[in-house]
Amino acid sequence: MKRLLLISVLCISPVPLATAQSLAPALLEPDARYKADVLVVVAHPDDDVLIGGYLARISLDEHKRVAVIYCTNGDGGGNDVGNEAGAALGQLRVLEARRALASLGIENVWFLGGHDTPGQNVLRSLDNWNHGLALDEIVRLVRITRPEVVITWLPDPVAGENHGDHQASSVLATEAFDLAADPTWFPEQVSPPRDRVGMSNLTEGLLPWQPQKLYFFTDAFENFSAYWHDPAELPGFRKTILDGTGPSYDTTTISPSRHVSYAQLEAEQQAFYRTQEGALGEKAIAGKNFKDFEFPVRLILGKTVLLASITGDVFEGVSADPIPFVQVEGYGHHPDGTNSLRFKIGDPWNFYSLFWRAHNLHGLLRMNPQPELAARYGDKLNIPLLACNNTQDAVEFAVTSTLPPGWSSQTSFTRYPVRPGECYPILAQVTAPGSGSGQWQQLTWSATAGSRQVGVVKVHVYLGNSGGLPQ
Ligand SMILES: [Zn+2]
Repeated sequence: MKRLLLISVLCISPVPLATAQSLAPALLEPDARYKADVLVVVAHPDDDVLIGGYLARISLDEHKRVAVIYCTNGDGGGNDVGNEAGAALGQLRVLEARRALASLGIENVWFLGGHDTPGQNVLRSLDNWNHGLALDEIVRLVRITRPEVVITWLPDPVAGENHGDHQASSVLATEAFDLAADPTWFPEQVSPPRDRVGMSNLTEGLLPWQPQKLYFFTDAFENFSAYWHDPAELPGFRKTILDGTGPSYDTTTISPSRHVSYAQLEAEQQAFYRTQEGALGEKAIAGKNFKDFEFPVRLILGKTVLLASITGDVFEGVSADPIPFVQVEGYGHHPDGTNSLRFKIGDPWNFYSLFWRAHNLHGLLRMNPQPELAARYGDKLNIPLLACNNTQDAVEFAVTSTLPPGWSSQTSFTRYPVRPGECYPILAQVTAPGSGSGQWQQLTWSATAGSRQVGVVKVHVYLGNSGGLPQ
């Protein structure tokens, strides 16, 4: 045995000293083919059309690199041109979206496969998509695409079309904006692979990435009339909500590279979506009339981590060099304070009041201070309320409503027992009057506990005769 051991030791070649001191190869750069200047995060194929005039401008003429994430395949809704429905329709819409974006020079496009969730409640959509799984994917794609700018829907329950899926895509985009540079989130993504050319690597070799500016867009203003609503109802409805909140881009400008207006390029983009309102684009092209697409693209500056003006260009103030992680406020204190009683609007509005603070979206706290929603005449509405007891003693809340003429209440109870530390979820059920013309109305609920006035919740409802989604 001793002899054998001696032989084997002698067979090992001596390690030359020079090897230990030689220079290791430089690390590989992240794959430049997927670098984006702007990452767009939306819910459905065709959501991109609303900002299509702007995407055409920056992609075709400013030569910005644009990447797009769709959180769903668009597997809900009807099919304007065929029998394909559900998952099959989703597969068609994936190709429609790829072709629509390719017409604007955009090829880096991802689909996360969440299911279309009709409604206006962002939390239902997030639940249906598996929030954590979707966030994992979007953070991964932010780290792959390394965008300076993220553009997404408005995370705000404003009255308008305001699909819950649209809001969910913006909640996820905002979360990913704030988490992608934090290596403690999805750390497996930012851990180097053990052997990049080997098999079975279970860590991903990405780098943390901090985007710089977050922009929102919404259909709760005039130009959604082209897609969803009766234009006759528009006067006075949400025309000013976007004033002073961000830049606006004219779509009647002629594209220097394509020699047609950005509105026409947007119409051509729409025409690829034959399963859903593609006919609008086809009709505009056939008639050479692009007025339905000539609305300006208006963006809302959600936040910027560098110095930039609110209404300045999207790329104003953007640093060409990567920037380090920027910590947001997060959820760090009890928003209602201690030893208090609170009566307030429930979810999703309550969620948003926490979310905006946590993610430094202070502009949204001010943009639309009262809860609001859109409904049709005759609709039944479910208004969630919360009676919160942050004291040491059990309390009984008494809740009364004040409704405009023609409304009726079907709420089951008027008194609610609330133990210390509890928030009692109250579902106020009301029915709107049967007919009328488009107008804002205010519904009010107030709560008392014993002889104490606890609080008042006012909800603004836009009553119309068309549009709207189930709550
Ligand atoms: Zn949509």
